[in-house]
Amino acid sequence: MVKKCITEERTLMLHFFTDPYKDELIYSAISRYHYYTGNIDFKDTLEELFDKRNIIPSLEIGSNIEVLAENIGGKYTADCLINNHTIYPFYSPFLPKKRHKQILKEIKFQDGKGLYAKIGIIAGSICSKKHIYYCPLCAKENIEKYGEAYIHREHQLQGVLLCHKHEIELKKYPISKMDVSRLEYIRVDAKSLDLKDFRIDKSKYQDKLLKIAKDAYYLLNQDFNNISKEKIAENYKNLLYERGLTTSSGRVKQRELYEEFINFYGKEFLELMESSIDIEDEFNWLKVATRDEERTVHPIRHLLLINFLRDDISKFFKYINYQYNPFGKAPWPCLNRVADHYKKKVVRTLNITQDYKTRVPVGTFICSCGFVYSRKGPDKTEQDKYKIGRIKSFGFTWENKLKSLLSIRKYGVREISRIMSCDTKTVIKYANRLGLISSINTEFKVCEVEQKSRELVTTVENKYKNDVINFINSNEGCTRQQLRNNLKKEYIWLYRHDKPWLKNNLPESIPRGKRNKSENNRVDWEKRDNEYLKLIKEKNEIMLRLAVPVRITKSSIGKSTGLLAVLEKTINKLPNTEKYLSEIIESVEEFQIRRCKNIINYKIDKGESIRIWEIQRIAGIRSEAFGRIKFMILEYIDSQNKGDIWVKKQ
Ligand SMILES: [Zn+2]
Ligand SMILES: [Zn+2]
Repeated sequence: MVKKCITEERTLMLHFFTDPYKDELIYSAISRYHYYTGNIDFKDTLEELFDKRNIIPSLEIGSNIEVLAENIGGKYTADCLINNHTIYPFYSPFLPKKRHKQILKEIKFQDGKGLYAKIGIIAGSICSKKHIYYCPLCAKENIEKYGEAYIHREHQLQGVLLCHKHEIELKKYPISKMDVSRLEYIRVDAKSLDLKDFRIDKSKYQDKLLKIAKDAYYLLNQDFNNISKEKIAENYKNLLYERGLTTSSGRVKQRELYEEFINFYGKEFLELMESSIDIEDEFNWLKVATRDEERTVHPIRHLLLINFLRDDISKFFKYINYQYNPFGKAPWPCLNRVADHYKKKVVRTLNITQDYKTRVPVGTFICSCGFVYSRKGPDKTEQDKYKIGRIKSFGFTWENKLKSLLSIRKYGVREISRIMSCDTKTVIKYANRLGLISSINTEFKVCEVEQKSRELVTTVENKYKNDVINFINSNEGCTRQQLRNNLKKEYIWLYRHDKPWLKNNLPESIPRGKRNKSENNRVDWEKRDNEYLKLIKEKNEIMLRLAVPVRITKSSIGKSTGLLAVLEKTINKLPNTEKYLSEIIESVEEFQIRRCKNIINYKIDKGESIRIWEIQRIAGIRSEAFGRIKFMILEYIDSQNKGDIWVKKQ
């Protein structure tokens, strides 16, 4: 971790310089140097170190480092001092690439005016520290080992409140810049340190604060030469994509990100970190951090985001050059069975879209042989690479092969379909399209087609007969006329195809003159109303419990009870049924809400954590629609969080 610093020895220009300790700020080493030399005037010390008598001390970074490095004898390079003894590495990975060089140049060669603003220490400042901070246990250790304490750079970072090593709260050193003259370097004096009275912090945010302290320390100790804001932003996009928080075109779903982020940290903790987010603000820091923008965002906020996206910061930087693709790296295999390159990895064109319902990525693989197939992702194993979801186009290679097979006039449709690796219907369809249908061995073809149409007729026949029987059963005493009116299509079809059956099963014919009278006498609407009501109530209960939810509509209830015709035609004679029906029928939105609630209940039962984007995805609701019901879903989650009994009942 520690970078190599020592360059070849040169003649020392100073008679000595006190070597900086691990993670000691240059500022601290200078204050010690001043103390050891016995200089009275700080201007003398400055002159010895910087060749200048008037340099404003800067605690966190410093200036004129190149001169300093030279003056202390070339034992350290300026870069080494900056990387190991300033807090610059805390900021640098999050600065735009083009700003790096310029800032380093200023730290090395200039007096540091305006430097803090460029790095963002002032402008984007959060949790700023006016005092020098120290960890009592670190100080104790240092005194035991070196006989003195020093200023640790990791304890001065804005937003770092704990010692990453001892996990205790940092303390303020009693003397601050305000208390001393402009040119003075404050030395941490053991006598002024409060080493005994430390307490282990019991803050409810201990874990979160500690994570930040550790991650910040990690940043200080990496060599992030090639890492810049641009690279970080790109990696954010990849990780957000993996999390389903970008569209397939790469646009960040800001509102969903915001909700998950708040869910992850809680508003109170973000407030403590001075990192609250106003979702309505176009330039809230979360939006800025996840967009390619000039503006910089404070490192602490980056750490919050990195921790949210990946719990291990070292993995974040380790895989920073890794481009996420749900289907792995190109090339992908061509799955055209009749191509010479079948199963060989030759496909280089991949379009990724999103499944309309489930939001999973869908890859469409386009091969130069014309074969195009798609598959839902992400791929989880190597075998997944050889799976076809749908063939979108067979392509010219495949068609040419089919043509040549057909022109031999030797094979039947089944054999061809086997060779071409498709079903017989496809063979017939393409043979037709290519004008070569007559080339198929006819015997097979005719058998095939006849069998198909026979199957079709049987299913239609069964369905229509069922419909008629159902209608008669649920409309006790109905007339032939009523049946004909309600089941026109079915009646006509059966009349044509199976007249004897129709005749045997139709209600008795009533002489014309008696019709109206007998109908009115026979039908007890009140009784029927209650029977239907009972039937629909039972059905509704069942439908609400279905594993794959079905929306409750007049049509779905009607079909499943066999009462559709009744509900459509005679509902005005069935007041109780009508009233009940109007209560249970669901709008599209109500149905969406029910689906979400079911998923939430399921997750609660399983003790799983609830993520709002996941609920939306499982329920298969588009973002726009989801936006309209989201507050109700959130309210529902809230209500169950309090352990409400009503939720358990649901
Ligand atoms: Zn410590
Ligand atoms: Zn191919």
